[in-house]
Amino acid sequence: MLFKPQKYTISDISKQTFIDADEIWKYINNTKSNAQRVREIIAKSLNKQRLALEEAAVLLNTTNPELIEEIKQGARTLKTNVYGKRIVLFAPLYIGNYCSNNCLYCGFRSSNKEAQRLTLNDKQIIQEVEALEDNGQKRLILVYGEHREYSPEYIAHTVRVVYNVKKGNGEIRRVNINAAPLDVEGFKVVKEAGIGTYQIFQETYHPKAYKFYHRGGKKMDYDWRLTALDRAMEAGIDDVGIGALFGLYDWRFEALSLLRHVNHLEACYNIGPHTISFPRLQAASSRDIDVAYKVSDDDFLRLIAILRLAVPYTGLILTARESDRVRKEAIAFGISQIDGGTKLELGGYQEGESKPEQDLNREQFQINDNRTLNKVIDELLEGGYLPSFCTACYRRGRTGEHFMEFSVPGFIKRYCTPNAILTLAEYIRDYATPEVAAKGWTAIQRNLSQVDDKFLPELLQRIERIKADERDIYF
Ligand code: SAM
Ligand code: SF4
Repeated sequence: MLFKPQKYTISDISKQTFIDADEIWKYINNTKSNAQRVREIIAKSLNKQRLALEEAAVLLNTTNPELIEEIKQGARTLKTNVYGKRIVLFAPLYIGNYCSNNCLYCGFRSSNKEAQRLTLNDKQIIQEVEALEDNGQKRLILVYGEHREYSPEYIAHTVRVVYNVKKGNGEIRRVNINAAPLDVEGFKVVKEAGIGTYQIFQETYHPKAYKFYHRGGKKMDYDWRLTALDRAMEAGIDDVGIGALFGLYDWRFEALSLLRHVNHLEACYNIGPHTISFPRLQAASSRDIDVAYKVSDDDFLRLIAILRLAVPYTGLILTARESDRVRKEAIAFGISQIDGGTKLELGGYQEGESKPEQDLNREQFQINDNRTLNKVIDELLEGGYLPSFCTACYRRGRTGEHFMEFSVPGFIKRYCTPNAILTLAEYIRDYATPEVAAKGWTAIQRNLSQVDDKFLPELLQRIERIKADERDIYF
């Protein structure tokens, strides 16, 4: 048997919570996979229908290599049909690593005396953002430890500081957040600053495993974290990201729980999460746990393919925790967003290329893709992808964008592809090396055929306007 799932009886689980560990295990333990069923489920997904938990469990329980290949092939087809060749790019910016929690897996945890602690001041934030803009970044996710210093007002302040930094043609057009759970009032304060997505990972959805890994501070409260995005919704933030840290518990349990979380948000607020993240546990400064539930590369790719099929209209994020090899493979069948040119050291971007080796005491964990943004874009172009820095939907108030991409006929041809082309043209003009610029213009030329005929003349005009140094024109 490939997996040895452990059965727990959770009796102390709050009635409020929407995760019932026994129920999730029941789906996994009582569901059988066979070729006919797997094919029916893939067909359902390709028919643009969301999968039920039981159907996702069938895919998760599939171990026959040929059927796994069919699942991956289904995900590849779906990804091409729904998203085309676009890949959206962003970068993380660590604002502060003080933390009063003690998460055993994290380099920032309070008991780690080796960690070098720092909160960037406004001047340092500005310098970091200028360095990011100089690389061509347009979308950032700001990351914070959980600490009384990082109040909603403080988070909102840092978001405003970032939006105000304009260097040359550079500007940040979308600021997402990864920070601790807030109360409803707190979420309202942060929303006011004009954030994009508020992202919180449950780490592990299994209550007992959660208790084991979280040994101090407010993060010990499983329910407070699980219901964070409900409070965000109540505060009017309808753009939220969920995730689990893979390696803490059985990956099939976490995958099904993520889908349960999607169901909960859809049922209660009529809007699913904008993105799902599935970081795999990496080495961290003085980390003192073994990776008990290590997820192999094969299982990881399988997981991504299954998530793609299960929630076709939700963005899937893959970060530089993964090597460029894994990223390349995963992008083909499910990923819609990646980071590029990532540095996790606080203050690391302004150090530029000259910075020596990674220093784990300055970072939350180790990353495995150290390529520059230019290099990442180069390789995306080589792979036939269309790199995009688009921020149009959120700025035009078209929220629930992934749902629209999926369900509104012609949406991609009308908005997504033209906006990807325009933001790539800006990147080429302002930041690309000559080789990448040449590949970029070829990609733009090729993708013009993907644009609705009705909008093509206007798009061609706008590309000329970008060549004439106009910026930030989008559909
Ligand atoms: N302090 C906030 C929190 O805990 O939600 C911010 C999040 S933390 C800076 C961002 C995410 O990194 C965490 O939610 C966790 O999933 C992930 N992370 C922590 N330690 C990690 C490790 N050793 N390897 C990979 N990812 C890790
Ligand atoms: Fe702090 Fe977040 Fe790291 Fe936990 S994961 S120690 S809360 S920074």
